[in-house]
Amino acid sequence: MTGLNPSATPADSSDRAPGPLHLIQSFANTLSADPDVDLLRTREEAAAWLRTAALLPADVGLTNSEHAALLRLRTSIRDVLAAHTDGREDAEAAARLTRALADGRLVLTVDPASTVQLASAARASYPGLVAAFAIAVAGSAASGTWLRLKSCAVPHCGRAFHDDSASSAAARCSMHAA
Ligand SMILES: [Zn+2]
Repeated sequence: MTGLNPSATPADSSDRAPGPLHLIQSFANTLSADPDVDLLRTREEAAAWLRTAALLPADVGLTNSEHAALLRLRTSIRDVLAAHTDGREDAEAAARLTRALADGRLVLTVDPASTVQLASAARASYPGLVAAFAIAVAGSAASGTWLRLKSCAVPHCGRAFHDDSASSAAARCSMHAA
């Protein structure tokens, strides 16, 4: 069952994304064309992956509609990462990602010590886990790494990788780098 470990990136880890962006990378890489693997194929498999990633409590599952929404979220992330690779704008994918992340119901909280944090306004488990993805995206955008998370342009690969090149122009994962 090693395939359920969300921190396991295939081959080498040289294109592992830093910090919370690694969560987005792992999530995007739950789908692979070659070998044909989908770690989120069924509700049960998806819930198991989310539990391993500490995004879902042990006693909680996913409804059919939550599972479908989770797969739409992954598709929109993968499409936006492909746009990062090509350096093009994909308004349609961006709109789908915006809609999918809205399930997280992000709000900004301020505690008595004036510590400011992004959090989910919802108490249910599904909005909470979407919020975790949204907070990871927001954090990586703030630190300037979001645009460096891309998907490999090699046909049948599409693996999410972190482009740490000086030019920020890499289009292939470490397995396919020339
Ligand atoms: Zn590749």
